[in-house]
Amino acid sequence: MAAIGDDPAREGLRDTPDRVARMYQDLFSGIGSNVDDAIDAVFEAESQDPVIVTGLVFYSVCEHHLLPFFGEARIGYVPNGKISGISKLARALEVAAHRPQVQERLTADVAGSIFNVLQPEGVIVELEAEHLCMAMRGVNKPGTRVLTSASRGDFKNYRSGQQGLQALMHSR
Ligand SMILES: [Zn+2]
Repeated sequence: MAAIGDDPAREGLRDTPDRVARMYQDLFSGIGSNVDDAIDAVFEAESQDPVIVTGLVFYSVCEHHLLPFFGEARIGYVPNGKISGISKLARALEVAAHRPQVQERLTADVAGSIFNVLQPEGVIVELEAEHLCMAMRGVNKPGTRVLTSASRGDFKNYRSGQQGLQALMHSR
C-alpha cells in the first residue's frame, strides 16, 4: 500500500494485508492438489452415449496480473466403460481454477484429468471467459470473450468454436 502511495496505517487499510492473505488461501486452494483426485466417484457406463455438461460457471485468477478471469465451461465426453458423478467434473474445474492460471492451461488441465481418470473414447472441454486484465487495464477491452478448447482422445472431426462441442456430439 505504501508503494502505491497510500497510507497503510489508515483505518480502512489496516487489516487489508491480512484479509488479502486469507482470501488468497481460498482463491489458490487448488495449489498442490491433483486435479485427477477430484474425480473420485467413478461408475460403470451402461452405454457410449455422450455426456455433455454446459453452463458451468467458474472463476479463476490470471497468473500474469493476479486479476480474475471468469465465465462458463462446457465439458463433453464419450464414455468407454466409465462415467463419473457430474458434480465431480465441476469439482475438477474448481480445483484447477483455484490456482494462478492461464485459460489455456486451465482448459487443458480439466480435459487431461477427465481423460486420465475416465479413459473415455474422447473428451472436449471448452471455456469462454472474460479477463479483467484486458477489461480494466492494458488494452481496456471490456466484454471480450476468450474461447479455448482442449480435446483428448478420438475427436478428429472436432471443429472448434461456439457450437463445436454440440456439433461434434450430434455428428456421432
Ligand atoms: Zn492477465
